Amino acid sequence: MSTAVATPLQLPQYVNGEWIESTATEWLDVPNPATGDVLARVPLSGAEEVNKAVEAAAAAFPAWRRTPPEDRIQPLFKLKMLLEENIDELSRVITRENGKTLTESRAEFRRAIENVEVACGIPMMMQGFNLEDVARGIDEVMIRQPLGVVAVITPSNFPGMIPFWFLPYAIATGNTLVLKPSERVPLTMQRVFALLEKIGLPKGVINLVNGGRTAAETLIDHPKVRAVSFVGSTPAARAVYARSGANGKRAQCQGGAKNHVIVLPDADMEMATQIISDSAFGCAGQRCLAVSVAVTIGDAQRTFRDAIANSASKLKVGNGLDEGVQMGPVITQQSKSRIESLVGRGRDEGAKVLLDGRGAKISGYEQGSFVKPTILDAVPATSELTDTEIFGPVLSLVHANDLDEALAFLERSPYGNQASLFTSSGAAARRFRYEAPAGNIGINIGVAAPMAYFPFSGWKDSFFGIMHAQGRDSVEFYTEKKIVVERWAKEHSRKF
Ligand code: NAD
Repeated sequence: MSTAVATPLQLPQYVNGEWIESTATEWLDVPNPATGDVLARVPLSGAEEVNKAVEAAAAAFPAWRRTPPEDRIQPLFKLKMLLEENIDELSRVITRENGKTLTESRAEFRRAIENVEVACGIPMMMQGFNLEDVARGIDEVMIRQPLGVVAVITPSNFPGMIPFWFLPYAIATGNTLVLKPSERVPLTMQRVFALLEKIGLPKGVINLVNGGRTAAETLIDHPKVRAVSFVGSTPAARAVYARSGANGKRAQCQGGAKNHVIVLPDADMEMATQIISDSAFGCAGQRCLAVSVAVTIGDAQRTFRDAIANSASKLKVGNGLDEGVQMGPVITQQSKSRIESLVGRGRDEGAKVLLDGRGAKISGYEQGSFVKPTILDAVPATSELTDTEIFGPVLSLVHANDLDEALAFLERSPYGNQASLFTSSGAAARRFRYEAPAGNIGINIGVAAPMAYFPFSGWKDSFFGIMHAQGRDSVEFYTEKKIVVERWAKEHSRKF
């Protein structure tokens, strides 16, 4: 089933309110991971093109920051309606370029819309505070002001949602923006910007440049970029944070993950199995909140292992656009090879391959990058896999004697994006919530994704920075606080 376009579309940039052809000398194919068909060609923009986008955003800033917050949010109401009207088409674009199922793409876009809705509250959220008479006749006021141009650099696994963790808040608080989406999935933002074009934003407030590392580094180094919002793998997040710091600018950098779930023997095993299966294998294991290690305690070692192997083996894998498909391909052929070789390494280090999804062939989609659900049992604690983000549909099982031992296991992990517990004990749940060393905690929840009005709170090597994405943290990140201390001599007021 081919969805190839005859001449792959060469993707334009959106700068200063216009679609312009890229002058890049290097271009990448954007394949559909389910079919291998080339959907488009994306430019790997050089410094000159990126600088133009920053200059456009900088030129738009003075007028935009003077636009009242109430007026700045009006385009977001229009955007919400346009996204709702176009959600089906946008979801198809995500599925075609990323591979996840249509249901997953729709769910992703709902999260994008939620962030637009929350950012519409900026006139309330952006308020400062004040106190009269901090000393006799002296008042003190804290006001928030936008920063200027902000850069947003996003990853391949949520092409629709993650740009919206930043864009609505950045512009509603009065900043202007340059977005660089992942070069692997640039099509979703092309469609979104075609909608953004219609909501009445002044020219230059939002700009889209395509590219890879060079484009990202140009943004980070540009003196007119005041803040960097980044999401991607931990090595890249660490590098972006260091580079932003060296350039004297604030950054929020969300990195990779290795998420654990602890399964206690008193858990509702049927519910736990279904939810953990969705977390580990949904989006082909390419969520940053995907559970990738299940730590079983007591009898759960046997009951959970048997149940999850049975459930995972039944998942229907295929093209995410097809009816009934529950899991799509991984993002690229290189990713498939990497995942398969890590599974092999786990086996060599002593793990038992309970369910082997390597070498998957899906009839009609022979060029697709499919890996079927894979389960590794009894992964030794010393295995390299315990600390490696596999980023594919692979669940490792390890056993612990009790909650103390399981929590110590989590403590040793370099990552802290999410930790979950399945239990029917309130006391165990409370202890877990109190002690688990991760920023997003699930109690009988497999994907503890914070709603837009909560921060996305990764810890340890899953996050570099202080202010997270979404909600109030966004307002804090995208504004500068200014304190005004005022005194007016009494005699002046007597004149009037
Ligand atoms: P990636 O690190 O390869 O790329 C992410 C973005 O960074 C892309 O736009 C890319 O062009 C750019 N980039 C890559 N190297 C760079 C560098 N050295 N300097 C500056 N920019 C650079 O990540 P990916 O494969 O696209 O996405 C998957 C990764 O993102 C996984 O590790 C996943 O866990 C992580 N992720 C984390 C979160 C979170 O909230 N913590 C959310 C989604 C994805």
